[in-house]
Parts: sequence; structure tokens; C-alpha cells
Amino acid sequence: MTERTAIVTGAARGIGAAVAARLAADGYAVAVVDLDEGSTSATVEAIRAADGRAVGIGADVADEQQVAAAVQRTVDELGAPTILVNNAGILRDNLLFKMSVDDWDAVLNVHLRGAFLMSRAVQTHQVAAEWGRIVNLSSTSALGNRGQANYAAAKAGMQGFTKTLAIELGRYNVTANAIAPGFIETEMTAATARRVGLEPEEFFALAAKEIPVGRTGTPADIAAAASFFCSEEAGFVSGQVLYVAGGPRA
Ligand code: NAP
Repeated sequence: MTERTAIVTGAARGIGAAVAARLAADGYAVAVVDLDEGSTSATVEAIRAADGRAVGIGADVADEQQVAAAVQRTVDELGAPTILVNNAGILRDNLLFKMSVDDWDAVLNVHLRGAFLMSRAVQTHQVAAEWGRIVNLSSTSALGNRGQANYAAAKAGMQGFTKTLAIELGRYNVTANAIAPGFIETEMTAATARRVGLEPEEFFALAAKEIPVGRTGTPADIAAAASFFCSEEAGFVSGQVLYVAGGPRA
């Protein structure tokens, strides 16, 4: 098998960094995309230290030109990408009556517009290769979550987007699936802890009590699911949403 190339967005830290490292360990060359190229160095260096191939690329996934440039750099430096993990994400939580238009637009732009722009740019290479894998990060918040009207709408949108890509791209041997994580320990959930006046460890311990398996999730838990969806063996699995939440829903 020739070496495949993957793009993982929002891969400077958290879930994206773990997915990038896991895909590199699985044998793919990985473009580590995040807002600021400098912030990707830890992920890239960790992959190289483990004898993997990676390049760090700075791009805002919500910007059409920056997405085109990031995909072209991937082609030039690693080879045409046929695996895409749309992971970049932000939170702008607020109750509906306090949610600004900027909070709404920012979240919808990064998650939905970002996944759309990246997928549209990468599918060209997947269709040409007649093989591809797209993995989109949804969330248990897609089922509704207080204070997250923008994020819940975006994450539910990711599920409809995923199923549509599965239908449109299936004939080219391209699968599209979504992972809906529950509570995962990252900077995103640590920031939520600080916003509600708790230490992250305290917040994580409280969250663990509500989760059937009795612990919070780790980025590696999500990377394992992404690894499966990207594998050769998962070629007949498409349009699915896998809740990785320590129970039926967190
Ligand atoms: P995180 O630690 O906040 O990391 C997200 C990364 O995305 C950051 O490096 C961030 O860069 C980057 N990013 C933000 N906007 C971007 C943009 N426009 N273009 C490129 N990169 C951008 O988040 P995480 O917890 O690992 O979450 C990763 C994904 O999983 C997100 O889609 C999130 O919604 C989803 N998720 C997380 C959880 C959880 O419990 N953590 C649960 C369900 C779903 P900056 O640092 O520069 O902002």
C-alpha cells in the first residue's frame, strides 16, 4: 500500500493532537492544521520523534483561501490527502437571551463552514484516488445542552453534513462518519471549568460521577475511534454517528 496522507484540523492540542499522533502511528503522513502554525510544533515534533511524518500548517478552517492554501501545502509536502478529520472547534457558551450574533456566527463558522470548506477541498483528491475517509467531530451536545444553542446546532449540523457526504461520496469509495464525544479532558473543558469558577480537576471529578463508566474521557479514547473509521477495514461503515461518551449519552 502506498502511504496515505491525512489532514487533521485543530490538531495543535487536545483531541486533534491525539488523533494526529494516532493516525501517524497507524502509518499515515499527517498535516497538523491549526490557526497558528507555531502552535502545531509540539504535535509535529512528537510525531517525528516517534518516526512518523508530519508537517504543521497554519490556517483558519473558516477561511476559503486559507483552506485552499493548506490543502495545497499538504499536497506539495506530504502528498494528496485522502483522509480528513474535521476536528477544529470553539465554544462561545451563553444562554439564548444573552447570546450575541457574534457568538452564534463564530461557532457555526468554525464547525460547519470549516468542515464544509475542508471537505470540499479534500474530496477532489479523494475522488481522484477513488478512496477516502472523512471523520467529523460532533458532540453529545448535538442532543441539546443548556447554554449551547450555537454549539448544539453546529454539532447536530455536523451529523446531517456527515450523512450527506456519505451518500454523495460513497460511489467514489469515500466514507464519512462522525464521532460524538461526551466529556473529554482537554483545554476546552478546562476552560469551561474556569468559566464556572471551578478548578478543572474538581470539574472533571464532578463530571465523572454522571458518566456510566465512572470516568471522564481522554483524547486517546477519541483517537481510537477515529483510527477505526480511517482504517481499510471500515470501508463498509459510512454515514454513522458513534457516541464515545462512556455510556449511551453523557
Ligand atoms: P481544544 O482543546 O479547544 O482544541 C481545539 C483546537 O482547534 C485548538 O488548537 C484551536 O486553536 C483550534 N481551532 C479553533 N478554531 C480554529 C479555526 N478556525 N481553524 C483552525 N483551528 C482552530 O478542543 P478539544 O476539546 O480538543 O475539541 C476538539 C473537537 O472535539 C472540537 O470540535 C470539539 O467541539 C469536539 N468535542 C470536544 C469535547 C470535549 O469534551 N473536549 C466533547 C465533544 C466534542 P486555538 O487554540 O488557537 O484556538
